[in-house]
Amino acid sequence: MPSTTPSLFRRYYRRGAAVALAVGLALTATACGDGRDENTVVIGTKFDQPGLAIKNEDGSMSGFDVDVARYVAQELGYAPEDIEWKEAPSGQRETLIQNGQVDYIVGTYSITDERKERVDFAGPYLITGQSLLVRSDESEITGPASLENNKLLCSVTGSTPAQRIKDEYPGVQLQEYDTYSACVQALRNNAVDAVTTDEVILAGYVAQSPEELKVVGQPFSEERYGIGLEKGDTELQNNINAAIEKMQQDGAWRQAFEDNLGVAGIATPTPPAIDQN
Ligand code: GLU
Repeated sequence: MPSTTPSLFRRYYRRGAAVALAVGLALTATACGDGRDENTVVIGTKFDQPGLAIKNEDGSMSGFDVDVARYVAQELGYAPEDIEWKEAPSGQRETLIQNGQVDYIVGTYSITDERKERVDFAGPYLITGQSLLVRSDESEITGPASLENNKLLCSVTGSTPAQRIKDEYPGVQLQEYDTYSACVQALRNNAVDAVTTDEVILAGYVAQSPEELKVVGQPFSEERYGIGLEKGDTELQNNINAAIEKMQQDGAWRQAFEDNLGVAGIATPTPPAIDQN
């Protein structure tokens, strides 16, 4: 069976194509064990990254990634209430996509060649870079090289920042947790000395506790955020790319950035050009 078949089937099924087709597809869906509702789209994102994607106490979702995900869903024909949000921790994203547990992921997900072996990406929709978060009274940590001086660094399993530290700063003691919020908690408790990931993510934590936390040094990588989707689903990739471009052009992208990340003190960048695949 061609690799695009299952997802195309799922999409026709959801949109209520011919009944006979739908029946056949219902069987397909059951056989695949995904048991999804035909009118919902399942979007993977983070639940603990303020400014980007956070699940609030009342269960609602907010953040820049959430706004991008909602805009894309709308363009694909799904109203906000048709979205089912699924937490997509850094280390599980490719697997969630490959298993069909999500339709797409908008969750600070950097486009890399290694990940492209397992999934495809639409975008990029945002460019940022790896940086360092420390307690506000910290003065010895100024950049990644200063961490080699017996400092404990926290990052997340399966993330590009954790991998970069292992590859380029092997002398740094790295602890890998499942989420950045767990790393930030460890930083507050003095269990680690610094947290590393993308600057926009770190800025979101600083905005919550500006008295206690600060970002230091300059970004030392380029992280290009894409929307992850099933490998080979060119139709979905093209549709998402068109949605991102529309969002950039009609002002909604800028509005979403200002609403969610303006408070973190990050100047609104120019939206990146979409990759030609
Ligand atoms: N953008 C990086 C990555 O995709 C770090 C952020 C994250 O872990 O979500 O790995």
